[in-house]
Amino acid sequence: MPETSNARPPIAIDGPAVSGKSSVGKAFASRIGYRFLDTGLMYRAATWNAVQNGVDVSDAQSVAAAAETMEFSVTDSESGDNLIVINGEDVTKHLHSIQVDDAVSSVAAVGRVREIMVAEQQRLAGEGEIVMVGRDIGTVVLPDAPLKIYLTATARTRAIRRHRDFIAEGTEVELEVILRSMEQRDLADSSRENSPLRPADDALVVDTDDLSFDEVVEKLIELVEEVL
Ligand code: C5P
Repeated sequence: MPETSNARPPIAIDGPAVSGKSSVGKAFASRIGYRFLDTGLMYRAATWNAVQNGVDVSDAQSVAAAAETMEFSVTDSESGDNLIVINGEDVTKHLHSIQVDDAVSSVAAVGRVREIMVAEQQRLAGEGEIVMVGRDIGTVVLPDAPLKIYLTATARTRAIRRHRDFIAEGTEVELEVILRSMEQRDLADSSRENSPLRPADDALVVDTDDLSFDEVVEKLIELVEEVL
């Protein structure tokens, strides 16, 4: 991967749905002066695009064809959030709907979709210091990253966190509905043939059940100091 000689190495963070990867990863990246990339948004974008175009997400060929013709880019807002633009339209606000949650694992299981996304992720990593979060970052996208973190927590803790986010944005969804949707997504992501969710052999596992948001960020900073 092209890297400038004095650039600090990329950092990989993986984990199941709602393990805090995105919010923690963003705060952590900002603390250490790295760019942040939430790769889940890229698979969500492909899903949103497919659904908007009436594509049957269980039909891998049609999903692949829709991803191939989708023009998309990832940019950063001033606060460091990733923004996704598809065919000229900023679609970021649509990407965490339950509709996308329920369809994204089918789209992300399509090999051609993964090829397109991984190529773009590796290109972005080549631009320099980046914290990249997803499911296959340590295993496939950045297998040479010297620091690989796997964030996890029990399904119920994660569902409660997502429920809190929905309430905060004024969306009413039952906790049990979120829990079921999340468990289905975890199962699909970890049992798929293409790049299944799993910790890389050399990943450091951080269990966030009993840690506050700030404690997780501090823990990751400690790991940077120890490992890099
Ligand atoms: O991280 P997030 O929950 O937003 O990811 C949404 C979905 O995108 C995951 O459930 C998974 O199917 C897919 N994904 C993936 N590989 C990644 C990141 C996300 O397959 N690197």
